Amino acid sequence: MLVGDTASIRALVGRLDLERYKATIKGLTQFGDRRQGTARNRAAVDWIEAQLKSYGCTNTERITYNYQIDTTRERRAPGRGRLPTTAPGGARLRGNLAPIGVNTDSLAQPDLRLRALNTEQTVPGERQEVYCTKVGTTHPDEMYIVGGHMDGIGWGEAANDDGSGSALVMELARIFSSPDVVTDRSIRFILWNNEESGLNGARAYVAQRQSLQGNRDASGNYPEPRWLGMVQHDMMMFDHGMPRADHTVSKEQRPEADVNIEFQDTAKKAAEAQKLAWKFQAANEKYATNYPATVGRHMTNTDSDPFKDIIPAISLRENERGAQIGGGWDPQWHQPTDLFSTYTDTDCRLGWNAAQTTHGTIAELVGATIKK
Ligand SMILES: [Zn+2]
Repeated sequence: MLVGDTASIRALVGRLDLERYKATIKGLTQFGDRRQGTARNRAAVDWIEAQLKSYGCTNTERITYNYQIDTTRERRAPGRGRLPTTAPGGARLRGNLAPIGVNTDSLAQPDLRLRALNTEQTVPGERQEVYCTKVGTTHPDEMYIVGGHMDGIGWGEAANDDGSGSALVMELARIFSSPDVVTDRSIRFILWNNEESGLNGARAYVAQRQSLQGNRDASGNYPEPRWLGMVQHDMMMFDHGMPRADHTVSKEQRPEADVNIEFQDTAKKAAEAQKLAWKFQAANEKYATNYPATVGRHMTNTDSDPFKDIIPAISLRENERGAQIGGGWDPQWHQPTDLFSTYTDTDCRLGWNAAQTTHGTIAELVGATIKK
């Protein structure tokens, strides 16, 4: 059931500002690729927490966990080599395919300042990730989780992957934390760490907090409200279409660019996740100014994955993860070229439209209103 008052929600979505969204992405890129297990990653977590507090989302908290490098995974990591014939998540690759992989070569970054910034490599050990919560007035014990991952790889600035998703989450935290905004239910804004190493930050959250759902503490608060749904935002800006036969990709955002909402067909909560995905698609038609949204069934390789058998979990992206990003549609993916300066306003506007989509949907779901 959709609740909340449409005029209020339109006004709230109207508070999203493209320039602010861009400025937050740029802010995140000051920490280079923000690789997990480095000082630049920890500095980015501190910076994000300071931003959240400055927005009025003052009840920030951190999850602490221990990460040991999964050597089986490192060994499997592909170079920019041959593509498989099937894509992750159960998708099927079509048409022209360009090579994909993770850049691990420092010399591939021509910018010496950035090369130096990204020099420190990861070591196993303690990790942290930060979240803050908009507490609902009538149902503080129930929440939606809105996520993006703040870590990156590839010797660039991780501007799109996933500065674009992290900035979206932070912008929503800013607007929902405004003192004149009231919601019936709670919303948790979380900036996952260790996504690129295997969703380890999201997995740690589920492991530590799933059993705490709905518990009331001595002061009458709900440290872990019951989970109603989880939406992840990962790579939000670049939809320039399929690679050409020579593996090059258009320099321009394609006019038919869309926000790809994905659920996972094989998840235990697939039916509920699909319903949630269509709610996002409907809200996109109501609230997003430029780009439409498309629903697909192959959500994969993202922080909503550890939630998908427990609650309705979806992801929003610039492209389908399996068939499109897996087919080489984003040539900056995990590369030294994933820089703030790579993207035009037209690119950023796709991420901003995804922000409008999530903002409108979540505002309806939690019953958001503006206090008169
Ligand atoms: Zn990502």
